[in-house]
Amino acid sequence: METLPEHGWSRERIDAELDGFARGDSRWRDGRVPLYVFGGDARAAEVGRDAFFRFFTENALGGRRAFPSLVRMEQEVIAIGLALFGAAGTGAGFMTTGGSESLFLAVRAAREHARSTRGLPRGEGNLVMPVTAHPAISKAAACMDLVERRIPVAADGRADPAALEAAIDEHTVMLVGSAPCFPYGVFDPMPALGEIARRTGTWLHVDACVGGWIAPHVRAIGRPVPPFDLSVPGVASLSADLHKFGFCPKPASTLFFASPAHAQHAGFDLDVWPSGRYQSSTLVGTRPGGAVAGAWATLHCLGEDGYRRLAAELMHVRDAYVDGVRGLPGWRLVADPTLTVMAFGAPDLDMMRVAHKLGERGWVPGTTKSPPGLHLMLSMLHAPARDAYFADLAAIDAEVRAEAARGVGGLRAQATY
Ligand SMILES: *Cc1c(COP(=O)(O)O)cnc(C)c1O
Repeated sequence: METLPEHGWSRERIDAELDGFARGDSRWRDGRVPLYVFGGDARAAEVGRDAFFRFFTENALGGRRAFPSLVRMEQEVIAIGLALFGAAGTGAGFMTTGGSESLFLAVRAAREHARSTRGLPRGEGNLVMPVTAHPAISKAAACMDLVERRIPVAADGRADPAALEAAIDEHTVMLVGSAPCFPYGVFDPMPALGEIARRTGTWLHVDACVGGWIAPHVRAIGRPVPPFDLSVPGVASLSADLHKFGFCPKPASTLFFASPAHAQHAGFDLDVWPSGRYQSSTLVGTRPGGAVAGAWATLHCLGEDGYRRLAAELMHVRDAYVDGVRGLPGWRLVADPTLTVMAFGAPDLDMMRVAHKLGERGWVPGTTKSPPGLHLMLSMLHAPARDAYFADLAAIDAEVRAEAARGVGGLRAQATY
């Protein structure tokens, strides 16, 4: 069993051991991992990483008292986001360590809002969302003892506004829409959800964690992106992860509110212990200063033209993979992907067997459970891997069809995220 070494190891030994650990990992640099990692612009990645290590020791928890640098950088990141998401000068926001934390804090703000403005009794409260909403929202609901109501989506993979509205009652604290949702990569119809939110007095949260930071630039290069941001009437809050398609170092996300009135329900201000008053907006206490500096540096390094160039390159990768799917006889996309998140499959094939065989060939297969299919979240890491991926898929398709003809099948290898 592993114990603390009696004598500390040399730098050389540590590096050699780390190399050994890394050798066991999937070949993500070769585009063989369809999620978890993101590749954008090499220069911006280096600038972001250097900024991260420059502020490696500084702690964003102490920003107000000791590190005004971090406060300023965070304010600038938030201002940039508010301008991108249609709330320049009117909205508010703060940085978090990830999408899950942003969503947790959004749910809490919505619950506090319902308690203070509508007298929601303690012990009550539910969240209404399409079935495609991210599990982090369920995690937040579980932590706060809120009931979640997951509602089936329409045939196009998007939220069904009428079905969502029917699930809302006087104890609903939040309605959720995704921009886009992770499973199918489509945007929920936010104007219709905003309409419902206003009619029923419900807090509408837009989960733009995955696509938020790139979607405005995709729109700017002339690609269709449905309305989804804080300018849509009825939207109360929006989460967007810098560490996904903002191409910033982990851990970094943002949470925005349509107005200071909404934002006032977020945050903690406690005076309960011998040390005195404790104030913070986030769920975590200590926060890496590096993540704040890394995000600030990445945004400024890329700039509008950099993000537009990346958006164009990403959409090129998207198109190449969409064409690849369309080139496989009998295969189809579950929905038409707006950005680079997509699900697809062949209804007459055992997709979990296909996924298993992808794994045998060195790919980490992204999968969907319903409908059974494959899943991709593409970034620039995946551009060079495209032809090899579809060559393997075509070969696997033939293999699985031949096996099915011989009565071989039934292998189940559903992914756990
Ligand atoms: C990734 C993701 C999240 C959760 O973000 P983490 O940074 O992994 O905590 C939430 N919503 C959507 C749509 C996502 O894709």
